[in-house]
Amino acid sequence: MTITLTNPTLVLNCGSSSIKYALISEDNNTRITGLAENLGLDTARIKHTRLDGSKEEINIAGGSHKLALQKILALLEQYKPIAVGHRVVHGGREFSSAVQVTPHVLKEVKRLKILAPLHNPANALGIEAVNAIYPEMPQVVVFDTAFHQTVPPVAYRYAIPKALYEEERIRRYGFHGTSHAYVSDRASQLTDAPGPHGWLTAHLGNGCSAAAIYDGKSLDTSMGLTPLEGLMMGTRSGDIDPGLHIHLKRTLGMSLEEIDTMLNKQSGLLGVSGLSNDMRTIEQAANEGNEDAKLALEMFCYRAAKYLASLSCALPILTGIVFTGGIGENADKIRHNIVQILRHFDIQADWDKNAALIRGNEGRFDAAGSEVQLWVIPTDEEYRIAQETREALGLLS
Ligand code: ADP
Repeated sequence: MTITLTNPTLVLNCGSSSIKYALISEDNNTRITGLAENLGLDTARIKHTRLDGSKEEINIAGGSHKLALQKILALLEQYKPIAVGHRVVHGGREFSSAVQVTPHVLKEVKRLKILAPLHNPANALGIEAVNAIYPEMPQVVVFDTAFHQTVPPVAYRYAIPKALYEEERIRRYGFHGTSHAYVSDRASQLTDAPGPHGWLTAHLGNGCSAAAIYDGKSLDTSMGLTPLEGLMMGTRSGDIDPGLHIHLKRTLGMSLEEIDTMLNKQSGLLGVSGLSNDMRTIEQAANEGNEDAKLALEMFCYRAAKYLASLSCALPILTGIVFTGGIGENADKIRHNIVQILRHFDIQADWDKNAALIRGNEGRFDAAGSEVQLWVIPTDEEYRIAQETREALGLLS
């Protein structure tokens, strides 16, 4: 049987040293995926999965973003992508939906590096590289922040002087927008509850965030000005007392850069356990009796539950909770612990169903009579980006 890719869209996620890509057919039934990693280093390589599922690895020692994209586009050329959709981390206040790339949009993506210094420049590199190779190719940018542009001021403002908001745009933006949008949409399609629906979505991966979504609109979320605020994550602290910075400066003489690195790269599961940022390693160590790993697990679940409870304040009704991301989709014990901490929501869970959910599948694990539905929905940010790309170009059938 020949597998075909009809009118495919190429989705690119350009990070500081990697490029994730997916070529997705119009009907979302087939895709080619891959990852270029270690860009700029001797170990730079492309791991490519072909249409038939077979894999190849291409060595591009020392290769830059541009070289990697040239190779990726050459690998995909025969399938004739009709458009490219880029995941862009920060769209600031300017962008509340996906837009086609123009010189002005590209300039804005670059300018917004003040809000996302590690991400937006890499995203812009990707746009420029595609432009240099295929100047006629329509390109769209899909922002991680855009879905949260419906959050009202009461939730997005910080209680700091107004001038910092008006002149410096200091406010909460929220991230993981495509993931929260995708899983809440799917939950609304799958549920038997009459709409409009109110969902609490928990995206638990290396980065973790939660959102409150009513009738398809984000009303509040846990990440803020940067992706550091909110839940405890793999290496990120999530919420801390903002007084910590001055305290560490005074007592240990730490610089702001050192504190920033500590909070972003040495904290979270890694910081508390002293072992790893990987949930599987932490679970195993906790099972073997490691006390630090046990505490890291408990803190992770407690913080997630506490945020879900607080985000419920944004919702007129609570239809259900949706778990997604590597941890949310795969770690049934973590879901179990989080739901158990939410004692006051009249949730009845079916723990056997929770434990039996098959990895990679959508499923529901609330028991009969539960006031709140419980869902696991594997996220598909690539599909959502492809869909938003086609929509922005007026290509949706
Ligand atoms: P990213 O945010 O980088 O996309 P993922 O969504 O892939 O990351 O999530 C990565 C996290 O998911 C890691 O902490 C990993 O340990 C965890 N994870 C993946 N599979 C399992 C599993 N079976 N049990 C527990 N945790 C898992």
